[in-house]
Amino acid sequence: MSSLPQTIHEARSLLRSGAMTSVALTEAYLERIVQKEPQIHAYLHVAADAALAQARTADERRAAGQDAPLLGVPIGVKDIITVQGMPATAGSRILQGFMPPYEATVSRKLREQGAVFLGKLNTDEFAMGWSTENSAYGVTHNPWALDRVPGGSSGGPAAAVAAGEAVAALGTDTGGSVRQPAAWTNTVGLRPTYGRVSRYGVIAFASSLDQVGPMTRDVRDNAILLEAIAGHDPKDSTTFPEPVPSYVDKLEGGVKGLRIGLPREYFTEGMHPGVEKATREAVARLRDLGAVVEEVSLPHTDYGMPVYYLVATAEASANLSRYDGVRYGYSAKAPDLLENYLLTRGSGFGQEVKRRILLGTYALSAGYYDAYYLKAQKVRTLIRADFDAVFEQYDALIAPVAPIPPYRIGEAPTDPVSLYLLDVMTLPSALAGVPALALPAGFIEEDGAQLPVGIQFIGRPLDEATLFRIGYAFEKDRRPETEDR
Ligand code: GLN
Repeated sequence: MSSLPQTIHEARSLLRSGAMTSVALTEAYLERIVQKEPQIHAYLHVAADAALAQARTADERRAAGQDAPLLGVPIGVKDIITVQGMPATAGSRILQGFMPPYEATVSRKLREQGAVFLGKLNTDEFAMGWSTENSAYGVTHNPWALDRVPGGSSGGPAAAVAAGEAVAALGTDTGGSVRQPAAWTNTVGLRPTYGRVSRYGVIAFASSLDQVGPMTRDVRDNAILLEAIAGHDPKDSTTFPEPVPSYVDKLEGGVKGLRIGLPREYFTEGMHPGVEKATREAVARLRDLGAVVEEVSLPHTDYGMPVYYLVATAEASANLSRYDGVRYGYSAKAPDLLENYLLTRGSGFGQEVKRRILLGTYALSAGYYDAYYLKAQKVRTLIRADFDAVFEQYDALIAPVAPIPPYRIGEAPTDPVSLYLLDVMTLPSALAGVPALALPAGFIEEDGAQLPVGIQFIGRPLDEATLFRIGYAFEKDRRPETEDR
């Protein structure tokens, strides 16, 4: 790697000391994007001119004596989050050419703190997927093994951060879409507590599950970025009024005496032995560091998959009904209105999105609502109760993120059920609304490639601080060279 700063905190010290300007830093990142994109394809839109203009403003602000946590730091944003002045496609043909007339609260917050937006990053269509293969704009390649997927749906952000094409990025996690790509690219990804971060201006997939999460190269950066985007938002009534703590100040606590549960249900059949090994090794390391790790049970884990695919598809079918080809985005331009709806939606949405609209519409339809949607909501409550019960005795849980390492492009399981089972370890926590932090835990060597493996720490609602603290201790133990961060 080059001598370019790779993290927010490194970039920040160079900017603060005057060793580098934001313009120089942004130019260097834009240069890397030009070099790397032919192999990686993480970006759907690169905003070079706007980024340089923001960088100049950041340098002027600094010269005038101002400082802010992200002043002058170049970052990327998943293309499902709106940024003023940039197109937003959600990876879908149906939003081709859409320029949002507003900006997400998370983007506004980053802009106000002086961040530089490099551009918009690839995603599976409407965040439905595992790999970016469902994007209407081509697949992103895993920087660790170019013939493999980076994970998804936030595969663009994960690959950009892993390849050094952005210092950090924002992704979204509905059922695992920040954590699984982080695990597959050796990066750090947080799914915050549902309601910790505003969803205003984030293109909706499943409103009771969607959360924006930071994707970074290390735990400290993740804490910095969460601090920057979290908090109450009058434009999103599901956000918590609780003030945002300083996560960064609490990184150093260590894990001594913390009680961590290891859910036995997460060791599923079909799990790759390398994933199990990495998880067991992580447990051993945490014990060496003084944590108490004990096996626990989350008995309703197996229901996570069916419940998620009822709730998420039901909400998606409602959210996606607004794309009618009339007011914005792609339109088939048929002369007859009904024909226009049918053609626009028929050719504007991809196959996985259509499958989910059908499933969700069915689950919500008269006569089936009680049997499917309502039942799923009740089981969701049981899943949440599993977490409440273990958190009475444990400070956090440790678990694998995905049962297998990244697969080759084009070699995903072909039947939908096997595909949906890839998410068994990330769905229950998403349904429960609790936070979870995924971070690097090692590699599996396969066919001469090093395939990243991650683990996740799952925490109590609004207790991201404990996850960062455990993650920081774990990361420091694995990578002692980063000690002087
Ligand atoms: N892979 C899951 C899905 O396809 C999760 C996606 C997400 O979190 N956005 O729905």
